[in-house]
Amino acid sequence: MDELQELYRQVILDHNRNPRNFGELADATRVVAGVNPLCGDKMTLYVKVGDGKIEDIRFQGTGCAISVASSSLMTERVKGLPVDAALQLFEKVHDLLTGPREHEPAADLDKLAALGGVREYPSRVKCASLGWHALKSAVADDAATNVTTE
Ligand code: ZN
Repeated sequence: MDELQELYRQVILDHNRNPRNFGELADATRVVAGVNPLCGDKMTLYVKVGDGKIEDIRFQGTGCAISVASSSLMTERVKGLPVDAALQLFEKVHDLLTGPREHEPAADLDKLAALGGVREYPSRVKCASLGWHALKSAVADDAATNVTTE
């Protein structure tokens, strides 16, 4: 395992063991439930959108290390971002997870590049993308309240 992969592994382990922004958000303006039936991951995403920005965001749920770490990394990164920027980030992460392998991770993904390791494991892609799909649903104009990564 090279140094970068080891660093990425540490990021995932850290965010799984100690998820950021974990819990309910009482004044959420959008609440989205996400399920990945293939793995059994379940999460609820609470987002407070105001002034075109993600003012606050939290999540809770149960799932495998990848799904929890990915949701944790997502909330940490998008909190305070304009909705447009969060949607652009969704596209970059989506490309990282599912795009052609020769794509280098977008430079500004930073720690989120750690999620790219799941490309080697197709069944894990849905674990890593669950929180991101919930985010997209939560901030889209036609906000859905349930997402399934099937
Ligand atoms: Zn999973």
